[in-house]
Amino acid sequence: MRTFYVTTPIYYVNAEPHLGTAYSTIAADVLARYHRLKGEDVFFLTGVDEHGENIQTLAAEKGISEQELCDQMAPMFTKLWKKLNLSNDIFLRTTSELHKRGATKFLNALYKTGDIYKGKYDGYYCRRCESFYTERELAESKNCPVHKLPVEWVEEENYFFALSKYQDGLRAHIRANPEFIQPESRRNEVLNVVESGLKDVSISRASVSWGIPLPFDQTHMTYVWIEALCNYITALGYGEDGEKFHKYWPANVHMMGKDITRFHAIIWPAMLMAVNLPLPRQIFAHGFVTNQGEKISKTKGNVIDMDTLIGEFGLDAFRYFFLREFSFGNDGDYSQDRFVLRYNADLANDLGNLLNRTLGLVSKNFGVIPEPTTPGEFDDEVKGIARETIDQVDALMGQLAFDMALEKIWEFVRRINRYVQQTQVWSLAKSEETKGRMGTILYNCMESLRTIAVLISPFVPDTANRIRQQMGLDECFENQGLDTVSEWGGLPSGKTVGKPEPIFPRKDTKRKPRHAASSQTEQIATENLISIDQFQSMDLRVAEVIAAERIPNADRLLKLQVDLGSEKRQVVAGIAAHYSPEDLVGKQIVLVANLKPTKIRGIESQGMLLAASGKKELAVATFEKRLPPGTQVR
Ligand SMILES: [Zn+2]
Repeated sequence: MRTFYVTTPIYYVNAEPHLGTAYSTIAADVLARYHRLKGEDVFFLTGVDEHGENIQTLAAEKGISEQELCDQMAPMFTKLWKKLNLSNDIFLRTTSELHKRGATKFLNALYKTGDIYKGKYDGYYCRRCESFYTERELAESKNCPVHKLPVEWVEEENYFFALSKYQDGLRAHIRANPEFIQPESRRNEVLNVVESGLKDVSISRASVSWGIPLPFDQTHMTYVWIEALCNYITALGYGEDGEKFHKYWPANVHMMGKDITRFHAIIWPAMLMAVNLPLPRQIFAHGFVTNQGEKISKTKGNVIDMDTLIGEFGLDAFRYFFLREFSFGNDGDYSQDRFVLRYNADLANDLGNLLNRTLGLVSKNFGVIPEPTTPGEFDDEVKGIARETIDQVDALMGQLAFDMALEKIWEFVRRINRYVQQTQVWSLAKSEETKGRMGTILYNCMESLRTIAVLISPFVPDTANRIRQQMGLDECFENQGLDTVSEWGGLPSGKTVGKPEPIFPRKDTKRKPRHAASSQTEQIATENLISIDQFQSMDLRVAEVIAAERIPNADRLLKLQVDLGSEKRQVVAGIAAHYSPEDLVGKQIVLVANLKPTKIRGIESQGMLLAASGKKELAVATFEKRLPPGTQVR
């Protein structure tokens, strides 16, 4: 059986867990769940880093022992992970005997290679970072680049690891394995550092008392970073549980925030090289989350309150948002408006409506999952897209492109919504003759929903299960796996479906009804003012008109085909008195993209264009320069 080993960094217990730590850990959880879905034997590690000078100082301030402090802090992490529905296989504490034994064995092995020597260290030191900095890194201010506080000049006797010896080996490895450090920007950064020359690093601290003593000189504590990195192998029982260790090592992915890439991509691999252990296959550094453009910090008072968000929108919406909205390797900006918008558009509308509509029609007309007896138009296309989606999602998950994988899944969701519209399935209940076709279309919708539920289950596990229950399927997706949807038609006909219930109730954006059109168009409304939230709940996009035609017997209406970049839409607009079809082709217009599809004179309209209209004249809003179709209008 294929194995998959994914790790998060172990979080330092000098502060409570926050959104940043949650983001890393949710991403690792999604990846772990996805690989389990693929039938792999997964080991998912997370944990806490509990040693070092910061803990020593903080414990002294609180008047408790270091161990007491750690014992107070560690449960805050385990509680939050439970709340976030994380499926980690182990929660490793560096004060555990397992870790202490493993780290000691690793340090001994390192010592035996002859790559550790005693020397004198003098340099600029930040006590909060527990790191030395070179003059170049401090720039003119002589402040720590992280904390912006003055550093100290420290001279002490330390043990060193001969990192410089591994410079060529590291460079060769990074060059030969483009996947080793990702994303590309981080890879280049690390490569630059390696190529500009590596200095030996100190691996002990004489002035620190809270840590793991060096096994070959008990008067020195191991530098907390060096010992913490060992967690990736001590969690597998390095040095004592050979079977487990060899089964999962090397790790498939070490996931972390971009600020700690250097430790993971330079020092850790060099130490592994020294003791002849294989290197992790990938080190992936994700970006940071900002809040409305600002760095998140307690002092700024802009911390994102996870409890409130989860309380209001549910855990799955929370898990969904951060992986859908941000590209994993880049920074991402949070705003409550974007959250509500995504919630309503993707979860409540696209997915929620598809499930509700489909199950509503099935319950009302069949009561059980119907039999697919009567194939027809669009069926093969839908089946083809299902297959394609599974393959594309797999490729994207392999690149940790969570946002794009979700986008692919949602393209499929939206395609099935369109299939419902195109086939007008609801109208087929009228006669017995068309009921076979109706059953087939609904079967295809349900089979698509089953595929969608399996694909989203790593991201939103509870939602996937609720969909399954409403569909009347017994077996949990986690036990079934991706291969159960790889062939179309695995959905059993004849099963009684459950009761349709909204999985993501729409959130009121408190939009008040517009005033009835007044003859005094000059006056701009000053009552019923809307908030920025309400305005931003509209998804406005640049759409390019690719075709336009008149609608027979409807002299006010034009039927437009527009390009939204990721998809094409059909829109019916009441502008025929002011524009002829050829005037519009090639124009870029503003489209309200998250308007519920509707029928105008029996023709489907999937959005609304913006136009200004007075008593006599009307003009469609356009742009003063060309933009990629699909660009957001704010
Ligand atoms: Zn610092």
